[in-house]
Amino acid sequence: MAKLWPIYRSLLDTSELPTRLAAAELALADCYLCGNDCGIDRTRQDGPCGVADTLYVASYGPHHGEEGVLRGHRGSGTVFFSGCNLHCVYCQNYDVSQQVTGFTVDAPGWPR
Ligand code: SF4
Repeated sequence: MAKLWPIYRSLLDTSELPTRLAAAELALADCYLCGNDCGIDRTRQDGPCGVADTLYVASYGPHHGEEGVLRGHRGSGTVFFSGCNLHCVYCQNYDVSQQVTGFTVDAPGWPR
């Protein structure tokens, strides 16, 4: 049986990953990454999404609640990032999306 890899892992074998990281760093200073188009400098303040230039993670781990074809027998890998740009009235993840609970991540090579 062929070994399966997430397609993004192929970025590690090329120069594409540093290029994308540099573009992400630049985008933080004049942010138009979502439909809010607010242009906020996230190196100086939070955007309406609740996030500045620090990455917050609410939780991570195997997720067994997805459909079987996605999770297999051991669960799918899941990372819940904190903050959200939508502000839905009935959000079931309010603490994560609007109160931006979680812990900071300062992994080498991640945009800050
Ligand atoms: S809401 Fe957040 S992600 Fe969207 S454009 Fe504004 S700062 Fe960027």
